[in-house]
Amino acid sequence: MILKTPLIDIHAHGDAEPGVVRIKNLFPEKVGEALDHARESALFSVGIHPWYIKETPDFKGLENCLNDLAAHSKVLAIGEAGLDKVAKTPWSWQEKVFNMQISLSEKLGKPMIIHCVKAWQEVLKTRKNQKAAQPWIMHGFNGSAELADQFLGAGCYLSFGEFLFRENSKAARFFPALNKERIFLETDDSGLSIQQVYEQAMRLKGLSMEELRETLNQNFKTVFGGKA
Ligand SMILES: [Zn+2]
Repeated sequence: MILKTPLIDIHAHGDAEPGVVRIKNLFPEKVGEALDHARESALFSVGIHPWYIKETPDFKGLENCLNDLAAHSKVLAIGEAGLDKVAKTPWSWQEKVFNMQISLSEKLGKPMIIHCVKAWQEVLKTRKNQKAAQPWIMHGFNGSAELADQFLGAGCYLSFGEFLFRENSKAARFFPALNKERIFLETDDSGLSIQQVYEQAMRLKGLSMEELRETLNQNFKTVFGGKA
C-alpha cells in the first residue's frame, strides 16, 4: 500500500481529522491542558494574539510563560502573533509583545505564524529591524500581488484559506500565478475542511491533487525540518 502524502493545515483552531497534519493554535492559558491531552501526532503553535493583550500587560511574566511553553517539542511555531491596526489594544503594547515573540522565535529556532491586519508595512519593517531569520507564515493572506512579492522577498511564506473562495478577493486573483514553493493552506476558523481548501487551491493553480500535496509537504519540510 502506498501511503498518501498527508494534507497539511498550517493554521487552525480546532482538532485535526485523521490523516491531516494540523498546527492547532493555542493561547498560552490553554496550553497546559492541551499538551497534556494531545495525541501523539498533534502539533501546535503558541503565541499572544494582538487582540488578547489585555489590561496593562506584565511583559516579563508573559515572556517567561511563553518561553517555557514554546520550548515544548509539540509546539512547532510561535503565533499567532503580529500587528493589528483594527484591534483596540494600544499600538505600543502590540509592538512590544510582537518583538518579544520574535526574539523567542529566533532563540528557539521556531518559525512564526503571523496575524496582520492593515499593518503590512509595519510587519515588514519589524522583520527587517529585528533581523529575523526564521520563516514567517503570513496567515489568511489577502494583501495585493505587490505585497505578496514584498513578503516573499523578505523570506516569508503566505497561507491561504477562505479568501480563495471569494472570486473577487485579491488573494484569489494572484494565487494562480504565485510561486507554489512559498504557500500553505489553512482552515483557521472558517468552518471549511482542509480538503475543501486543497480542492479550491488545486483548481485555481491548475495542479493535480497529488502535485499540490507533494508541494505543500515539501514546503512544510523546508520550514519545519521534516516533522510532518
Ligand atoms: Zn486564527
